[in-house]
Amino acid sequence: MMNPVRQALRQLMTACLPPSRWLVRGPKHSRQLALTFDDGPHPEYTPRLLETLERWHLKATFFVVGEAADKHPELIDAIAAAGHQLGNHTWTHSEPRRTTASQFLDEIERTKDWLQDRTGQPIHWVRPPKGELSVGKFSGLWQQHHRIALWNVDPKDFRMTSSANVSAWCQRYPPAAGDVFLLHDRLPWADEIIENLAMRGVFARYRAVILDEWLMEYHRAVPQWATSQSL
Ligand SMILES: [Zn+2]
Repeated sequence: MMNPVRQALRQLMTACLPPSRWLVRGPKHSRQLALTFDDGPHPEYTPRLLETLERWHLKATFFVVGEAADKHPELIDAIAAAGHQLGNHTWTHSEPRRTTASQFLDEIERTKDWLQDRTGQPIHWVRPPKGELSVGKFSGLWQQHHRIALWNVDPKDFRMTSSANVSAWCQRYPPAAGDVFLLHDRLPWADEIIENLAMRGVFARYRAVILDEWLMEYHRAVPQWATSQSL
């Protein structure tokens, strides 16, 4: 659970930093949302999820763990080939409280190099494990021009134990433009959650996009934002 100090700090940073470098949610007028999947790739759940995303014509961002990517490189190829975005979730998913800034930054670098070598694409989005950063970790990422992506919608799929949990959460979720989902393809629920939301028509109202799609949005002229409020 996030303590009030961290929460206030996060809000302050969100207000002060450009969303292209510190993203918690996307543009509110966009009619788009972002699905992000952490901790994979997983040999069983990731392929299943990729099928579900393809069936519903959805694009997503996968924050992969370098070690897991190295074990299943063909899944990284499949994610990239399907037009999804790859992001960096450290090499070992190291526990934030037991990891120094230099260890953390080394893991980020190693994962970035591995993914870039494999895909030939620039890897610039980072999601720190548990969304936790120290000042040293944050400034290291900042200096190395990484983009930090957090989330604003967390179904807590790590607590789910049945399809009933999935549908209960999906029924309660009020979709909103710019939502950034935190899901895990290391767990069995991601594809079921997507399927459930798709059946509810969520993705007919809000297109699921990769995070890079919002970068273009952020680089557009300011008046466009101002005039789009009514959408
Ligand atoms: Zn994680």
